[in-house]
Amino acid sequence: MFQQAYDLIVIGGGSGGLAVAETAARMGKKVAVIENHKLGGTCVNNGCVPKKVMWYAANLAHAVDDASAFGVPSTRGKTDWEKLVAGREGYIQNINAYWDNYVDDSGIDRIQGLGRFVDPRTVEVAGQHYNAEFIVIATGGQPIVPPVPGAELGITSDGFFELERQPERVAVIGGGYIGVELGGMLRALGSEVTLMAMEDRLLERFDPMIGETLEQEMRQQGIRLCTSFTVTSLQNDTHGIAVNGIDGDSVGGFDSVIWAVGRRGNTDGLNLEAAGIKIQPGGIIAVDEYEYTGIAGIHAIGDINGKAALTPVAISAGRKLAARLFGNQLDSKADYRNIPSVVFSHPPIGTIGLSEAEARRQHGSEQVTVYKASFTPMRYALSDHGVTTAMKLVCAGEREQVVGIHMIGDNVDEMLQGFAVSVKMGATKSDFDSTVAIHPTSAEELVTMRVADPRPAVETGSDEPLEWRKAS
Ligand SMILES: Cc1cc2nc3c(=O)[nH]c(=O)nc-3n(C[C@H](O)[C@H](O)[C@H](O)COP(=O)(O)OP(=O)(O)OC[C@H]3O[C@@H](n4cnc5c(N)ncnc54)[C@H](O)[C@@H]3O)c2cc1C
Repeated sequence: MFQQAYDLIVIGGGSGGLAVAETAARMGKKVAVIENHKLGGTCVNNGCVPKKVMWYAANLAHAVDDASAFGVPSTRGKTDWEKLVAGREGYIQNINAYWDNYVDDSGIDRIQGLGRFVDPRTVEVAGQHYNAEFIVIATGGQPIVPPVPGAELGITSDGFFELERQPERVAVIGGGYIGVELGGMLRALGSEVTLMAMEDRLLERFDPMIGETLEQEMRQQGIRLCTSFTVTSLQNDTHGIAVNGIDGDSVGGFDSVIWAVGRRGNTDGLNLEAAGIKIQPGGIIAVDEYEYTGIAGIHAIGDINGKAALTPVAISAGRKLAARLFGNQLDSKADYRNIPSVVFSHPPIGTIGLSEAEARRQHGSEQVTVYKASFTPMRYALSDHGVTTAMKLVCAGEREQVVGIHMIGDNVDEMLQGFAVSVKMGATKSDFDSTVAIHPTSAEELVTMRVADPRPAVETGSDEPLEWRKAS
């Protein structure tokens, strides 16, 4: 049988797979990428990129709603969903084309189809065998649909990006980051939204301040929240789709239901047994700090290894792994500490490091100092409503090293990156304090927090320096 030999075969042409492939190819290695859909993976095709386009549209809708308060004439009609989707898909096609060309120009062989292990060194695609010294599994994940009666009446985030018409009355099931993002953007664009979560608060894994503030803002936007709601079935009736809960509650009349209840690793069809790899719960492939599976020559990076399901994490892991395997950098490995992350909710959320509770557990409660602020940014000075910004700095030890930053509010998505650098560098509260504020901004609050918790929330909306407002 025909066999093609490579230095590296990558299964999965998403964020992680492309990163390891391109880095190895640049080092002169013979590389193949096996992909059964489009290059770019989840992030490009049905994750970060299409999501952010929709988020921008939703932000513009909010801005139009507020414009007349500033004397800027505006009226908002129905969202032109078709136009929005067409623009979004065109943008994605450009990224796909970029990757197609990039892979060709880099001399990487693209093998179209599903990869399946034959043995630890050989992968089969459509009957052809390919072998390599190293194989990297970067097959990402897929949305979970729970096995409840009527589950097929719902769609997932993948289905959301296929919607040709805007849902009018939609239930989003799931209080994690994908659920709150989809719910927020649909509401801003004009859909009636009910968000259902099994947990008693949204974004349960985040510092509680985040979920509590988001719930308050979502309610203000007219989103109906059903927390502590465990879905047991979906059913079609004369009013639309009904979502039934474990307590006998039922909420109905939806034309769309979106499952956003988590993701599982893409291991189906990989025939991992042939490589000697065991699948962990959730379709995860366990690896060590060097992304090594324990089977000679086989590594797993990105969402599939269950460490931190974010695009830049997968990219970093891919690049570091290539440097280790082919660049003689034996200690090259991704750093999973202090990963900044953003939720593109309305308003957005940015966090890095330890939550207050984690810091108290790790450092001892008496070693932790917390600084908090809550205010309405000047952006709403003329509006008849305000959107809260809430921030929390978690500091540990006598030097008050900043070990956690948690923010929700307009623009925190862009604010976080720079502050993440300072956290990585071990900045202390006094480093923050000695940095001159930029005024008038919301970001200045992070370097002007003077009073440790507990302290009253501050309502602002003027252009007085924040310290003034706090002192008064
Ligand atoms: C709705 C949504 C929004 C998101 N938003 C963000 C965000 O804002 N920021 C962020 O950082 N992350 C975000 N993510 C997460 C991000 O998309 C993932 O962390 C990232 O794509 C993981 O990259 P990966 O390389 O591990 O896998 P993927 O990008 O999923 O790539 C895996 C590829 O492998 C292919 N594949 C699978 N099995 C096989 C096989 N057997 N043979 C051949 N090919 C195969 C798949 O087709 C896919 O193209 C989001 C995810 C979703 C779902």
